[in-house]
Amino acid sequence: MDLNTIEAVLRPAGRGDLAGGRDGGRDGDAWLAGGTWLFSEPQPDLRRLVDLGALGWEPLRPSEAGLEIAATCTLARLARLEPPADWAAAPLIPGCCRALVGSFKVWNAATVGGNLCLALPAGPMAALACALDADCLIWTPDGGERRLPARDFVLGPRRTALGPGEVLRRIDVPAAALRRRAALRRIALSPEGRSGALLAGTRGPEGFALTVTAAVRRPVHLAFAAMPGPEALRAALAETIAAADWYDDVHGAPDWRAHVTGLLAEEIRAELAEGGA
Ligand SMILES: Cc1cc2nc3c(=O)[nH]c(=O)nc-3n(C[C@H](O)[C@H](O)[C@H](O)COP(=O)(O)OP(=O)(O)OC[C@H]3O[C@@H](n4cnc5c(N)ncnc54)[C@H](O)[C@@H]3O)c2cc1C
Repeated sequence: MDLNTIEAVLRPAGRGDLAGGRDGGRDGDAWLAGGTWLFSEPQPDLRRLVDLGALGWEPLRPSEAGLEIAATCTLARLARLEPPADWAAAPLIPGCCRALVGSFKVWNAATVGGNLCLALPAGPMAALACALDADCLIWTPDGGERRLPARDFVLGPRRTALGPGEVLRRIDVPAAALRRRAALRRIALSPEGRSGALLAGTRGPEGFALTVTAAVRRPVHLAFAAMPGPEALRAALAETIAAADWYDDVHGAPDWRAHVTGLLAEEIRAELAEGGA
């Protein structure tokens, strides 16, 4: 939709040109990434958009150390990554990208950073980043930077750990996490619907881990030194996720989300229990 309160779209050429952001800097500024959410509803408080795409960040940088994903990398570009053969967890990447069921246009414009920063419970980039032990690299308004585990980035629906004027620059995924075996499960109330539950499990030498998203208000991560049995997994889910943590919106009722989370978690556990670490 037209955002008829916008007076300027800034196209920064480098970091020195960055100023503002919705939560800081000049009032009425917002970082613009793919714009798929920004342009999807009225933004009466906004006056200026600062287009992060103009910074020209390299979308993906795979290396021995792992994978650097620029915040401005689109979901479509990320899904096309051709991973090294030993990244056993790589199928999680296109799987999580496709968990955002948008039109061709949305899918090709939506960015990894925009998805994380919007912090919808159904944000699949949070599932990916948490499951793969990623770190977020954040640019601070004083010209510095800080790092934060992706697990601590999303604090709740539409709430992140970004401070005023901060920009999510990059997500770094360690190679060790990419070498683990992985399994993904998703369910929605309708075939093209938003995720009601999105779960990712990994298994490696350090044990089994399960990330629960979409069903809960913020990502939940469970780690086990050894493969748990069905009972132990069920108990850990019950212990970790309080009744009030199950998300409630038109895409699923809390009791349904809790029920399907249990079923999908057990499917992931059973799949990864086969075949060892
Ligand atoms: C049909 C449709 C279906 C959708 N389905 C889903 C879904 O299933 N799950 C889901 O999570 N979302 C969904 N969305 C919402 C949205 O499109 C996605 O979350 C998308 O990934 C947002 O990314 P973007 O790059 O377009 O962000 P934008 O719209 O550009 O920005 C989103 C917010 O993040 C801020 N921001 C963006 N990048 C940064 C950065 N690097 N640092 C700091 N702040 C930043 C912006 O200022 C803005 O507040 C859907 C939208 C549509 C229209």
